[in-house]
Amino acid sequence: MTDMTLDFSDQVVVVTGGTRGIGRAITEAFAATGANVVPTSRTDADVTEAVEAVQEQGGESLAIPTDVSDKKAVKNLFVQVQDKFGRIDTVVNNAGINPMGALGRPEAIDVDEFDRTINVNLRGAFACARGAGSALQASGGSLINIASVGGVVGIPRQHPYVATKHGLVGLTKSLALDWAPDVRVNAVAPGYVTTDLTDGIRENEDLYQHLLDQTPMDRFADPDEIAAPVVFLASEMASYITGECLVVDGGWITE
Ligand code: NAD
Repeated sequence: MTDMTLDFSDQVVVVTGGTRGIGRAITEAFAATGANVVPTSRTDADVTEAVEAVQEQGGESLAIPTDVSDKKAVKNLFVQVQDKFGRIDTVVNNAGINPMGALGRPEAIDVDEFDRTINVNLRGAFACARGAGSALQASGGSLINIASVGGVVGIPRQHPYVATKHGLVGLTKSLALDWAPDVRVNAVAPGYVTTDLTDGIRENEDLYQHLLDQTPMDRFADPDEIAAPVVFLASEMASYITGECLVVDGGWITE
């Protein structure tokens, strides 16, 4: 019978961008289930603080600041995690950006902003999948990519972001095919979530109200409401789900 508990004791979870916002909620949700969690992002201070939060919940961790757009740093991250724990069970590709310079009508966006967004959101996710691939196959683990509603439908004036998130949903499907039945690969596509990334939106009253009007749940999600489905997808309860993209958007893109 399928294990209906959410017990990740002794398991090892790596969360990119796991120090803030949605990633931080994912880090703490896995730690609450007994997992050893390695939350990583670019700066020492952020990583140290998130590692301490995992340790306070009783899990083991490691502080390895890693820019996912740096392929050598990514390789080193997974080597170090494997060396310390001898296994990796779940990787969450959460690190993502939507820079100001990448917002606007297509004619106004510098092509370099496209590269910058791709390097983190898509190339970075592939580098992590590649770096963790052998360990995940050995453990029969799971990879979860944090996409976006912008990975499922178009959003005006967010071209690089939407392109990378559609790419991430595609990568989810192709990895799922190559790694089945050993590793399950899924994506979660949030709608708007209350984090630093959406600060600017919430400060613009008209835009904020417009987005709430489009959202049947009439509010942005709390990061915990994205973390919960991520933990579910990594769990035994999702043992037959792979290659899927789970939209968690308060009903926004429901037809
Ligand atoms: P955030 O800006 O609050 O946090 C992002 C985290 O990623 C931070 O820890 C940051 O340090 C880290 N990060 C950024 N660039 C990095 C890099 N190059 N290498 C390593 N770490 C890096 O963002 P968030 O709102 O929590 O978003 C997390 C993910 O969820 C992103 O992939 C984002 O696209 C996606 N998402 C967010 C929303 C939303 O409304 N907030 C909606 C849909 C999808």
